[in-house]
Amino acid sequence: LDDLRQRLADIVGVDHVLTKADETAPFVTDWRGRYSGAAFAVVRPGSTREVAEIVTACAAAGVSVVPQGGNTGLVGGATPRGGEVLINLARLDRVRDLDTANATMTVEAGCTLQAVQEAANAAGSMFPLSLAAQGSATIGGNLSTNAGGVHVLRYGTARDLVLGLEVVLPDGRIWSGLRGLRKDNTGYDLKQCFIGAEGTLGLITAAVLKLFPPVRARLVAWAAVAEPAAAVRLLERLRAACGERVSAFEIIGRAALEMVLKHIPDARDPLPVPSPWSVLIELADSDADADLAGLLARAWGDDAADDCGEIVVAGNEKQAAALWALRENISESQRREGVSIKHDISLPRSRIAEFLARADHELQVAFPGIRIVTFGHIGDGNLHYNQSKPERGDNQAFIAQSDAVNRLVHDLVDKLGGSISAEHGLGQLKRGEILRYKSDVEMDLMRRIKRALDPQGIMNPGKVI
Ligand SMILES: Cc1cc2nc3c(=O)[nH]c(=O)nc-3n(C[C@H](O)[C@H](O)[C@H](O)COP(=O)(O)OP(=O)(O)OC[C@H]3O[C@@H](n4cnc5c(N)ncnc54)[C@H](O)[C@@H]3O)c2cc1C
Repeated sequence: LDDLRQRLADIVGVDHVLTKADETAPFVTDWRGRYSGAAFAVVRPGSTREVAEIVTACAAAGVSVVPQGGNTGLVGGATPRGGEVLINLARLDRVRDLDTANATMTVEAGCTLQAVQEAANAAGSMFPLSLAAQGSATIGGNLSTNAGGVHVLRYGTARDLVLGLEVVLPDGRIWSGLRGLRKDNTGYDLKQCFIGAEGTLGLITAAVLKLFPPVRARLVAWAAVAEPAAAVRLLERLRAACGERVSAFEIIGRAALEMVLKHIPDARDPLPVPSPWSVLIELADSDADADLAGLLARAWGDDAADDCGEIVVAGNEKQAAALWALRENISESQRREGVSIKHDISLPRSRIAEFLARADHELQVAFPGIRIVTFGHIGDGNLHYNQSKPERGDNQAFIAQSDAVNRLVHDLVDKLGGSISAEHGLGQLKRGEILRYKSDVEMDLMRRIKRALDPQGIMNPGKVI
């Protein structure tokens, strides 16, 4: 292993091989502080060639590798378990090409999502992936987790935003698939194997991303809805009236909003009368003169009256940001409230109301006093369905019930045709849990793909499968 350490230093330079505990500490614990591990070394390569040489050296020494971008993942996927070489890709941060005629940009995996957005903006275009961790999260991490965020309704997940990839394979070879083609039916679509694989099949080193026209008109509104089913009906009406201009549609349950009002200074309920449910609506257009308020009014119409109460439309960017802040501060507010048990689930939109009615009832019967905090990307069928301890309950006693709460929630999600991981992935967190819900055939296919691409099993062991 001394030879491997020396070889790594030869490849990237001694300054980019970290082995002392105080140097590696920020890399070996996850964002939430839930997972902590140890690495043989943290290596920070500066080029695809260096990544390939590191992987070749590790494969020869029989040492596993853990890819890492911004380390903002929420399922422990980028945390080593012990003894692996952690390859942090942050130094691969160049924009290699920006082709406005083809509406694409080619970026290296370590570019932060925010840097990619800014580069696209500077060229008069837009890259639509957007999430709260974008200042730290990298494109490599976004693609490896098939990240979602707030604009999936209009633009799709990370998977839908990629045309080509460059990947270092587990045997050290480089697959150069950086094609900027919207049509290419020449066999299996290999890039889709690596997107969402959470670093278990190879290391993404660069990607060709799709660009879109920039948004020049935006309307943000907050509306009261009577119940989740009404929110789903409202979305259908909005889409009929506004088409693809509906770029975000989020639901916020009362308990979630109350926590924000309690914990975030200056936060205030946008509506005069407290509503059991609210939706945050964003309409966007590339035409600066688009009449978004007119379209919204048309969607509202008379027959919306039964479903919807008051609506507040932001009058300027500051008010729009304040409405979005209510949504984006829910997780932080819930953290300040004490421990919680979190579920990142998706369902067909048509079954969300049924799920919430049944799950809320069953949880309240089984765990008296439990507080249910529901919010999320209802337009995508994706709910963050979280439980907080009873107001005067004990943190430890509550957390001890996690498995039972998870079982109840996940079993119902599965029964209604949903997924137990909508956007955060499996990582270490749900690696065991998924065995309960995927069929033997699906697990067998996943294991065969893993064995075919990584026969030595050195890519991010102990994650996903
Ligand atoms: C405040 C906050 C808000 C968030 N909001 C959202 C949200 O709205 N939607 C959403 O989907 N996620 C969200 N996340 C989760 C997280 O930000 C995303 O999963 C993000 O895409 C991870 O990027 P990263 O660079 O930090 O990846 P990391 O955390 O470093 O890694 C994540 C996984 O990808 C692998 N990986 C990383 N880079 C590579 C690479 N180059 N090649 C191969 N594998 C790699 C790692 O091994 C690991 O399994 C949020 C997280 C936080 C902290």
